[in-house]
Amino acid sequence: MTAQLIDGKLIAQQVRDNVAAEVAKRTAAGKQKPTLATVLVGERPDSAAYVASKGKACQELGMGSISEHLPADATQEQVETLVRKLNADSQVSGILVQLPMPAHINEERVLSLINIEKDVDGFSPLNIGRLAQKGREPLFVPCTPYGCIYLLEKAGVKIEGANAVVLGRSNIVGMPAALLLIGKNATVTVCHSRTKDLPGVVRQADILIAAIGRTQMVRGDWIKPGAAVIDVGINSIPVLNPDGTPAISEKTGKPKQKLVGDVNFEEAKEVAGFITPVPGGVGPMTIAMLMANTLRAAEIQDSK
Ligand code: NAP
Repeated sequence: MTAQLIDGKLIAQQVRDNVAAEVAKRTAAGKQKPTLATVLVGERPDSAAYVASKGKACQELGMGSISEHLPADATQEQVETLVRKLNADSQVSGILVQLPMPAHINEERVLSLINIEKDVDGFSPLNIGRLAQKGREPLFVPCTPYGCIYLLEKAGVKIEGANAVVLGRSNIVGMPAALLLIGKNATVTVCHSRTKDLPGVVRQADILIAAIGRTQMVRGDWIKPGAAVIDVGINSIPVLNPDGTPAISEKTGKPKQKLVGDVNFEEAKEVAGFITPVPGGVGPMTIAMLMANTLRAAEIQDSK
């Protein structure tokens, strides 16, 4: 069996195109431009790159972006004052605080300060609480898990009644993904580092969401034939020459690296019914859903 590939790049582009069209309609109608404010604390190069790509996406879709940057030694009070300022700024539709913040900052306190109507990352306790409660709707769904479910639905995978296994229970991916699947009437098992017989649990899954950050840990023989496999993992590994030695980049003189997921793609694609590649699967969906959430924030604030 060869799985049907779920093309996250293509589906993310469709989401972005739809958002751009809605933004253009709003602008033509004289409504406020949806605007995303990002808050970066410290100098982590990966965080700076993520924030830059979010600002670039805003520009490409005709949205506004405001980029706030505090030094690594910023105090809790400075971060909180900045979030309060952005909450009060009527030009700002959505606020994204880039995680992780430096260790001395209490992230939970900062996230709980974000106005729920501007919480486009969906991480405020109120949004997550609503996601966890039957009959309640969060204003915003966290972007990566939202992207995972969107991909399943676009691929035509039936979620209702399915046995779903989520590998990982982080606040940003595993746990909200599990809550979303429960909300869509799947029967969900959440696995983590203390789970016994992981392969045995995964073999029961009609739907597998892997978000553990462990290079290609999920093997082909863990996958139930025909299952839908969503691989959230992003892991960097060295590229090898045919003789097994590390390949060296001619440009930089450094060993070449490539990205792989938490699932052994080559093995899993022979067993699964649907599978997302890495890169080009869940990754592009995260920013696309952030853009969709920022548009939604602007729409929510229209009625204020
Ligand atoms: P995280 O906060 O480190 O959480 C990892 C989870 O996996 C934890 O719940 C941990 O269990 C579990 N785990 C770790 N090793 C395990 C093992 N050997 N067996 C079973 N469970 C294990 O990671 P995260 O932030 O959720 O990210 C997960 C992966 O997704 C990473 O590769 C990350 O780069 C990627 N990611 C991708 C996107 C995207 O846009 N595509 C977005 C976010 C994250 P415990 O709770 O017991 O420690």
